[in-house]
Amino acid sequence: MADYVSPDFLKLDDTQFSDEEIAVRESVRDWVSKEFMPRIQEHVRQDGSFPMELSEPMAELGMFGANLQGYGCAGMNNVAYGLLMQELERGDSGLRSFASVQGSLCMYPIHAYGSDEQKDRWLPDMAAGRAIGCFGLTEPDAGSFVTGMATKAEKKGGGWVLNGVKRWITNGSVARLAIVWAKTEDGVRGFIVETDRPGFEARDIKGKFSLRASVTSELYLTDVEVPDANLLPGAKGLSGPLGCLNQARYGIAWGVMGAAMACYDEALQYVKEREVQGGPLASKQLTQHKLVEMITEITKAQVLALQVGRLKDEGKLHHTMVSMIKRNNVDIALRCARDARDLLGANGIVDDYQSMRHMMNLETVRTYEGTHDIHTLILGEHVTGMRAL
Ligand SMILES: Cc1cc2nc3c(=O)[nH]c(=O)nc-3n(C[C@H](O)[C@H](O)[C@H](O)COP(=O)(O)OP(=O)(O)OC[C@H]3O[C@@H](n4cnc5c(N)ncnc54)[C@H](O)[C@@H]3O)c2cc1C
Repeated sequence: MADYVSPDFLKLDDTQFSDEEIAVRESVRDWVSKEFMPRIQEHVRQDGSFPMELSEPMAELGMFGANLQGYGCAGMNNVAYGLLMQELERGDSGLRSFASVQGSLCMYPIHAYGSDEQKDRWLPDMAAGRAIGCFGLTEPDAGSFVTGMATKAEKKGGGWVLNGVKRWITNGSVARLAIVWAKTEDGVRGFIVETDRPGFEARDIKGKFSLRASVTSELYLTDVEVPDANLLPGAKGLSGPLGCLNQARYGIAWGVMGAAMACYDEALQYVKEREVQGGPLASKQLTQHKLVEMITEITKAQVLALQVGRLKDEGKLHHTMVSMIKRNNVDIALRCARDARDLLGANGIVDDYQSMRHMMNLETVRTYEGTHDIHTLILGEHVTGMRAL
């Protein structure tokens, strides 16, 4: 296949993005092509493996906590950050997830809710890729309905004792610290749990069809003791984890466009080369219909994400806007990936091509960080003022 050509139907590059934003995108795009793409096939074939050697190079390019200020973070605006996520997911949703979990789900809560000591202790190491984090919210019996969580933290002397099981935790077994959300007498609180503490165990989940180039684990906490200094002082109640999820969902809405654009580009190139019934597949009406649907939805998603990014930079973001772009952009990306796979015919089912890999990854992205249905319910309540039963 020829080199990747990203679609820009409405000329956003000429009219909407600054030179700095384009420079971030181009440097990440180049890095993904040179450093990540040659590795992806091998890691997808080994279920649950991520190229950990890329952690420090990613850090050097400012990919961890890129929209946070200070502590060695890149401090870029939210549009540049979105473009960064887009380019990572053009490679693979597992690559974007690695950066999202580190930045939005682990560095962000320390940055937003942590003490000065916690920030000084962890953020520089996390920005530099020396300490990888994981985020433990979901449990075997509490996914969408997180208030049903069973993990408990009980006060004991100058610290806390944690017990519970977290499931589906990205980076669980490669993390040096876990942000663990647990019920206390004062409601849900967040704790920094070093993963070498006695009683902490991470076991990887195997057999995934989706996000294969990503580590997904179960965390077992059995009488894990942490000092008071490990409690995140600024996070009280569910607004703590939901604040983190809002950051991550924003990045996902940009990221999935990268996957959609990769699939569109792959399909477009393929159908121009593929001969059927005496002519290129690209010359057939049904093919053109699929491609037109794809580029139209990608273009609409680009504009949605850009507008929400500008509002986020201006401090005018509402979490329902993030629900809308996460819900819409994942949905259209998944449909683009399915159509691209279809256009590739039998070739589309082997890993020499990427559309089916993106398609399978996007099934996870549709489920995590608030399922498609949950964002529908959030938006439905927002527009009607009534919580659906
Ligand atoms: C690869 C992977 C990585 C992940 N990484 C992390 C991580 O790092 N940290 C973490 O904490 N979690 C992580 N998750 C978990 C993810 O956030 C949850 O899977 C998600 O919240 C959905 O929960 P669930 O799987 O229990 O599904 P459920 O909540 O059981 O939902 C099942 C179905 O029911 C629907 N549903 C739920 N409630 C309603 C309702 N009220 N009305 C109608 N329909 C409803 C859902 O939309 C869905 O279709 C990850 C998941 C995957 C697959």
